[in-house]
Amino acid sequence: MADSLFSAAGIEAGYGRVQVLWGAGLDVGVGESVVLLGPNGAGKTTLLKVLIGLMPAWSGTLSFAGKPITGLRTDKRVRLGLSYMSELGVFPGLSIEENLHIGGQFVSKATLRVRMDELYSAFPDLAARKSALAGSLSGGQRKMCGIAKALAAGPRLLIMDEPSAGLSPLFVFQVIEILGRFRSTGLSLLIAEQNVAFLDLADRVFTLENGRIGFEGTVAALHQDDALHRAYFGLG
Ligand code: ATP
Repeated sequence: MADSLFSAAGIEAGYGRVQVLWGAGLDVGVGESVVLLGPNGAGKTTLLKVLIGLMPAWSGTLSFAGKPITGLRTDKRVRLGLSYMSELGVFPGLSIEENLHIGGQFVSKATLRVRMDELYSAFPDLAARKSALAGSLSGGQRKMCGIAKALAAGPRLLIMDEPSAGLSPLFVFQVIEILGRFRSTGLSLLIAEQNVAFLDLADRVFTLENGRIGFEGTVAALHQDDALHRAYFGLG
């Protein structure tokens, strides 16, 4: 089993007085790819925001690379090696190049220059349109821009909120393919999704239902659980 890179335990959080997360916890190992599967409104976005520090946890603990990070500001979490891609993923009013610069804002200029060259070779469609506004791109290209923006930070763990949102099945396949390529370079992934196609990337799965983690295990074990299989893959 991989050494632990990131872990969250006993997370409670919500909006105002409305509690959304009830003791949720998960962990990601070094080089591991984890999918957080859950239906609409289960609390996936809320949990990811707590993990990256965009929302405070009411209680619970977080650690990254052996250090406690509970209460640490988001920018400090990013500097440590966490990166977050929201459902929208980009600033639509900024160009591709500007989005990548924002993603890499905590990186030295020299490192960022090299990294952007690498990202532009990994995403040739973006390289061809560096000064195009992210908001003018097709859904698939916008998602690629979001991924490149998040990778510009040089993360050890990339946390993504529903990368499939708004994408046709063909683009979902392309996003999975490109994430698989970065995963094979050692990048750890935590992907919140309701689209089971992303399970192709998963070493392990957590399910989130009504703000609580239900199942934790391999994709094979998920398939073996009749109720979960029906819930996530339909009858059959
Ligand atoms: P989706 O796939 O629809 O984004 P999700 O699993 O990411 O769902 P969340 O967006 O975390 O779920 O929402 C969890 C619960 O928190 C829902 O009941 C939602 O209505 C509520 N919620 C989300 N954002 C807010 C907010 N800003 N203020 C109040 N309640 C909110």
